[in-house]
Amino acid sequence: MLIVPEREIADLMTREAAFEAVEKVFAAMAAGEARNFPVVREALGHEEALYGFKGGFDGAGLTLGLKAGGYWPHNLERRGLINHQSTVFLFDPDTGMVRAMVGGNLLTALRTAAASSVSIRHLARPDAKVIGMIGAGHQATFQLRAALEQRGFEKVIGWNYHPEMLPNIEKVAAEAGLPFEAVELDGMRAADVIISITSAFAPSLMADHVSPGTHVACMGTDTKGKQEVEAALLARATVFTDEVAQSVSLGEAQHAVAEGLIAETDLIQIGEVINGTHLGRTDAQEITVFDGTGVGLQDLAVASAVVDLAVEQGVAIEVDF
Ligand code: NAD
Repeated sequence: MLIVPEREIADLMTREAAFEAVEKVFAAMAAGEARNFPVVREALGHEEALYGFKGGFDGAGLTLGLKAGGYWPHNLERRGLINHQSTVFLFDPDTGMVRAMVGGNLLTALRTAAASSVSIRHLARPDAKVIGMIGAGHQATFQLRAALEQRGFEKVIGWNYHPEMLPNIEKVAAEAGLPFEAVELDGMRAADVIISITSAFAPSLMADHVSPGTHVACMGTDTKGKQEVEAALLARATVFTDEVAQSVSLGEAQHAVAEGLIAETDLIQIGEVINGTHLGRTDAQEITVFDGTGVGLQDLAVASAVVDLAVEQGVAIEVDF
């Protein structure tokens, strides 16, 4: 068995490799070549942690495995650790034998950032100039850094429930040489692309905070009950997702579908747009929403890519198992 420790991931994995792996697996999912297994996610009743398993099989990339992990909300304040903790296990699809154990924390951040970037690549207007961020926590910096590579953005605007965290994303804008402005939620009307990445259980971004032609990537809602945007926004938009089953059960679309504002059949898998079997944006006034729920196959795709890189670069640890 190969081990790729968490500490090696930063030097091995790139945003480009994560983008490529995630785009490819979204395409395989839409082509029916790859499928996610039902997600297990449980409140532990300990440390207010949510813990679970996301697994799947990609018959095109021959990747089989699972990510075990979750969200420990007090890690940062109590222990100086990041709140998301996870590990990916890969298995040989021919034999079922374990192939690799891979640190999943940074990979989760990179694969999640890659997902909203894939949506921006395929759905945002080509002339998008202003990007708006709702959220300024750990994941927001990754989403923004990756998104900035997708269009010729000229300005970053941001809103966060805890305004004292906004310097986190201001720093990423500065790294890219872009001006940053903190705005109220109605200031998001100036954005051509909006990414929401919060742990909220009630909507912040309302339908009338979004201008025609905007692409909105909803990335924070990955659990039943969470919600970042008003359900009416999805009713006004064309809604794309990584996976329909997750979108209606634990993604942002759970609310609009439950309220009868949209139907499950209205949701379009982004892989279909990547494969060219479904249209993406059809006009400059259309609002597009990407409901990025985070699927196990994304984790397996980036883990598999990083194992290959670790083997190539001689940093994978081999153990008898
Ligand atoms: P974090 O704890 O570092 O940041 C949380 C963010 O949510 C902060 O911006 C905070 O101000 C904001 N927030 C907290 N309470 C809020 C409220 N009531 N209303 C509005 N905003 C509020 O967490 P993170 O690592 O940045 O993760 C953010 C979210 O993204 C979490 O919900 C996490 O589960 C989710 N996530 C999703 C995926 C995916 O694939 N879709 C992957 C990773 C994380």
